[in-house]
Amino acid sequence: MSFLWPNSGFQNDGTWTNWAGNQSAKPVRIERPRNENEIVNLVKAATEQNRRVRVVGAGHSFTGLVVTDDVLVTLDDMTSVVSLERDSGRVKVESGIRLFNLNPLLDAAGLAMPNLGDIAYQSIAGAISTSTHGTGLKFQSIAAGVIGLRIVTGDGSVIECNEDKNPEILHVARVGLGALGIVTEVTLQCVPSFNLHAVEEVVNIDDLLATFDDHIQNTDHTEFFWMPHTTNALLKRNTRTSEAPPKPKDFKQAIKRKWKKFKNEELLQNVAFGAMNYLGRIQPALIPKMNSFVVPDVGSASYITTSYEVFASERRVRFYEMEYAVPRKNGIEAFRKVRELIDTLDHPISFPIEVRVLGPDDIPLSTASEQETIYIAVHVFFGTPYEEYFRGVESIMDEFGGRPHWGKLHFQNAETLRNKYPNWDKFQETRANLDPHGRFTNNELDRVLGAIES
Ligand SMILES: Cc1cc2nc3c(=O)[nH]c(=O)nc-3n(C[C@H](O)[C@H](O)[C@H](O)COP(=O)(O)OP(=O)(O)OC[C@H]3O[C@@H](n4cnc5c(N)ncnc54)[C@H](O)[C@@H]3O)c2cc1C
Repeated sequence: MSFLWPNSGFQNDGTWTNWAGNQSAKPVRIERPRNENEIVNLVKAATEQNRRVRVVGAGHSFTGLVVTDDVLVTLDDMTSVVSLERDSGRVKVESGIRLFNLNPLLDAAGLAMPNLGDIAYQSIAGAISTSTHGTGLKFQSIAAGVIGLRIVTGDGSVIECNEDKNPEILHVARVGLGALGIVTEVTLQCVPSFNLHAVEEVVNIDDLLATFDDHIQNTDHTEFFWMPHTTNALLKRNTRTSEAPPKPKDFKQAIKRKWKKFKNEELLQNVAFGAMNYLGRIQPALIPKMNSFVVPDVGSASYITTSYEVFASERRVRFYEMEYAVPRKNGIEAFRKVRELIDTLDHPISFPIEVRVLGPDDIPLSTASEQETIYIAVHVFFGTPYEEYFRGVESIMDEFGGRPHWGKLHFQNAETLRNKYPNWDKFQETRANLDPHGRFTNNELDRVLGAIES
């Protein structure tokens, strides 16, 4: 890993590294299939050679989900839209498509995903597999919008699942951690495209905690970022609107708006924030002072634009992250405890804590399975120690019934996780049926789901 930037993706020497630079692998073989048939063949070949198979999406998970020294499959050549029905909003895509490519294609057809996370680099299969989510009490995870899948299972057979065929597999496999097989196609239930009115303001954290419940009930998509060692938080409220973005009066105003966006998103949130983090890594004692500059500098804003442009932004500053889903009723109390914890740590924290909310779904391994959820995410700049902080946060989350994000760092295992999910056994049954010999396992899955004897 370089001091300035972690390498990520596939390297010339055949190694693979995730976005954050904290996971890497040297697989015996990298496969790049172009269609489902080639996936079937590679799974069969791996079976004959007694090799395990993992799939990588965009490598944006922080955990070792993708890591293998056997066969690593990338679906970067399977990124097409297979079919798009404007009237019903049903859109079938190859599973390697990246969200940043899919979103504008949907928009051009008058459609959109109902909700999104805060970046769009993920592949669709990677996003659903770890229960990726955005924010909004009336909305659900990305996986909850999946109405059909095609999966190549452990013996190389293909299962199609939707509301008519194998609905019980669809029910489980929407959040599958890559443990049930290789997803080749995903059918999404999209909605008519919509704009969001975004309002961003700096507020006092204690005032915000007192009113947060009102915000999440009254605004479609609410989240906040609290800056450790300060009393400042950036509150973001996005409301669905039929209003169009106001047109710039003239060329000068258009340029001014573009500059403001560039200044906020690139210069302040990426360049200046990144520089402060490098400085904080060398001189941690400066962090509390520097933090007080971060939130006010992002400033307050109000604008209207296409939904996906509001939901997702560029995240260029690399970090390590842990995120926990706690029942809504416990969320604010859990957050307060994390705030107290930060004052006791040896190392000051230079990254904001992000808080979001989500409505329940019925997917067995969704982090919002069967409960309204508040998500609390903690981060540190890449290359800085996180164990004391993240372990401390995890023990708070355990107290409040928290479930870790499958793609973000945590220290749980199958034994500690099974009681957190009411339909854990249903997932395990499906796993035993679709991958009885553990073709798709690796060390991380052995840890979080339990080992399969092959
Ligand atoms: C900067 C950043 C911001 C993030 N923001 C959010 C956020 O707002 N909300 C949120 O919930 N998460 C967020 N995440 C986490 C991220 O959404 C998840 O980790 C997601 O799984 C990454 O998608 P990916 O395509 O990179 O998948 P990968 O990390 O490559 O893979 C994830 C899992 O999916 C499996 N997989 C991939 N493709 C297939 C396939 N075709 N068939 C079967 N299994 C497959 C992999 O084997 C692995 O188990 C963020 C991560 C980063 C780095």
